[in-house]
Amino acid sequence: MDLNRRSLMFAGATALGSVALTGRAWGDAPAAVRGVLVHESGQAVRVTVALERAAQARTFFLSDPDRFVVDLSNCTLALPQGAAGEGPGAGVVRRFRYAARPENAARLVFDLEAPARLLRQELGGRRAPELSFDLAPTAPLAAAPAPSRSQRRTIVVDAGHGGRDPGAIGTTGVREKDVVLDAALQLRQALESRGQYRVALTRDADRYVELEDRLRFARAQNADLFISIHADSHANSEAQGASVYTISERGETRAQNMAQNWDIDLGGASRTGGVQDILLDLYQRETTNRSAQFAQQVIPRLGAVAPLLRNTHRNAGFYVLLAPDVPAVLIETGFLSNVTDERRLCDPRARQAMAEAMAQAVDTYFAAPQLMAARA
Ligand SMILES: [Zn+2]
Repeated sequence: MDLNRRSLMFAGATALGSVALTGRAWGDAPAAVRGVLVHESGQAVRVTVALERAAQARTFFLSDPDRFVVDLSNCTLALPQGAAGEGPGAGVVRRFRYAARPENAARLVFDLEAPARLLRQELGGRRAPELSFDLAPTAPLAAAPAPSRSQRRTIVVDAGHGGRDPGAIGTTGVREKDVVLDAALQLRQALESRGQYRVALTRDADRYVELEDRLRFARAQNADLFISIHADSHANSEAQGASVYTISERGETRAQNMAQNWDIDLGGASRTGGVQDILLDLYQRETTNRSAQFAQQVIPRLGAVAPLLRNTHRNAGFYVLLAPDVPAVLIETGFLSNVTDERRLCDPRARQAMAEAMAQAVDTYFAAPQLMAARA
């Protein structure tokens, strides 16, 4: 996620129960606002309003002081503080406030640090409708100091397998665990040489690490990005090329189920059933989008230095991709079961070229404004 996890801000939602439907026809019943999420997304701030179902919205800016207003009609507020409350902002949004208005209307006010403009607005969402807005200051905010050490992005690099788990075995006996460890070390070097990232490895030696511990490590490191490096094997020795995996829809469900046991900062939201689900859904969706964005950056760069498997961007429920709040990709660098790929994966220069390709993708991933998050 493009932000420090601890600065992720939620206004939690309350479980809807029977509140939303009061005996009126479904079409007439007011839609409930279930959650509001404000977070930095590249150079913009993304405001997401999770709704029970589609609702009419009108947006406008006010000045003195600067505000962005979202008026919703036929809406109720199913938010933790009831009919009126507030929550913290991020970036150009200092905080937000919400209040019910007469005749089932609701107003959300986003107090701004400076005049801002709307870069994008969208009504979408896979599981439930949501409104999202990207706001950016019309002029750059007062000179931001150069990122300090602590503000550096943290990238966790995960070399697959290790120790008693050799992973795939190549046609000449090469072991996946050795090849991917070197690739991970190369990637660390490429990233550290840039001076703007903090890099942590789940293993830096031939050591066995449980999958769960890899994930736990990434979350403990407060990772902004998790890159797991593997090498494939296939019964068909013709299969060749690199591929990139991000979480699948099924994996997302699994991640949400697992997340109930993880300590995820949901602001002041109650930790009971429905509330968590909605917030985790928002969290998860953003993480999925960010993971896919990184995949889109890394694929062409890998393709420039290595053959790619067909349908290079794939979705899977791999365990290491399941942290709901850490954007994650799993890169299969090639097939050890293929003679050509094996030779390439054993070539230190080829591994270095792949590490550099990945590092370049990391650069663009964090530099890009990321305004148009892909939606499945
Ligand atoms: Zn593997």
